[in-house]
Amino acid sequence: MSSNLLDESLNKTSCGITNKDITCIICPIGCNLKVSFIDGSVIEILGYNCKKGMEYGYSEAVNPTRILTTTIRVEGGVLPVLPVKSDKPLPKNLLFECMKIINLTKIKAPIRLGDMVIENILDSGVNIIATRNIDIKCFS
Ligand code: SF4
Repeated sequence: MSSNLLDESLNKTSCGITNKDITCIICPIGCNLKVSFIDGSVIEILGYNCKKGMEYGYSEAVNPTRILTTTIRVEGGVLPVLPVKSDKPLPKNLLFECMKIINLTKIKAPIRLGDMVIENILDSGVNIIATRNIDIKCFS
């Protein structure tokens, strides 16, 4: 069984079925989904009102991902830190290691919105990109 199936939102029945309760965040309705597994394989998803919700429940149960938003240190800029985000969702189990890399990184100004700050972080296929401009600090 994978580690993402070992969290507190899980409960196991006497017949070996594990249930996971998930709130769908695809739209504001926020349907309550229940995903059932046997031996780590999804056998049933209940509570969704559309196909997107069913797909969200499946991926959130099997391979949960998140967009990472944080800041990164800047050298020589008008601001000391730059807001950044991942250009695609990252597997949740990589977020901690990604933050370690980001915290060790410092980039030079100037930086433009959308610049790639870290390419293919942890070989995930996901890039970390700037979400604002930062100009060079002038010392005149
Ligand atoms: S299951 Fe469909 S209707 Fe329900 S919250 Fe998700 S996207 Fe919205």
